[in-house]
Amino acid sequence: MKTKYMLVAAAALAAMASVQAADHTPAHWDYRGKAGTAHWGDLEPDFATCKLGKAQSPIDIRAVRHGAPAPIDFHYAASNAEIVNNGHTVQVNLPDGGTVHLASGDYHVVQFHFHTPSEEAVNGKHYPLVAHLVHRNDAGELAVVAVLFKQGKENPALKPLFAALPPHAGDKHAVEGEFDLGALLPAHHDYYAYTGSLTTPPCSEGVHWQILKQPVDISKRQLAAFRKLYPMNARPVQQLNGRVVEITG
Ligand SMILES: [Zn+2]
Repeated sequence: MKTKYMLVAAAALAAMASVQAADHTPAHWDYRGKAGTAHWGDLEPDFATCKLGKAQSPIDIRAVRHGAPAPIDFHYAASNAEIVNNGHTVQVNLPDGGTVHLASGDYHVVQFHFHTPSEEAVNGKHYPLVAHLVHRNDAGELAVVAVLFKQGKENPALKPLFAALPPHAGDKHAVEGEFDLGALLPAHHDYYAYTGSLTTPPCSEGVHWQILKQPVDISKRQLAAFRKLYPMNARPVQQLNGRVVEITG
């Protein structure tokens, strides 16, 4: 009898543990509606920085200081790539995509993903799309290089990705051939630099941002292919709160 009771108790504990584990799944969030950008900070305690943070991203780049952040040294390399529809955007994971040397140190590339319209604005103007190239250093700090897209010619670097975007959340597949992130960069590497945050929950701060000034082309058709999956996945611009944006060149 006692043994049976203990087994029942053990089963109940196991059930509780699985409920607790389920509780640690981050809250559902979205760009619009009840779980939209205005509510991120209230969806769960881990997302509080989304509403309490004072150094949030994205921003509208207006007043800039002509400081002299060091030029970015890109050392990207052709890598196997996996393209994932993660339910918020399309992301490309690059296990061996190479490194960058930034003013804040050396980082290796982890992944890149897209937002439409561009999250960052320049003098109030948004671009139709932005790619965020996410890098991490050995200390776990994040640095993002943003590549802005303007409507124009077909972008050859996007071709192997946008020809077969994974249609549903959770879908993923290997990108055919190898992908070299360097092919996505504009010719000129002047950039705006500031310190901000992740632009998605949990909105963690201390992210080193560099936004390349020169946009690259994307065709109307390529843009439509992305917008068919994600018509709008951009967080609104956030308050600067005294932060200074520096520019090279
Ligand atoms: Zn992003």
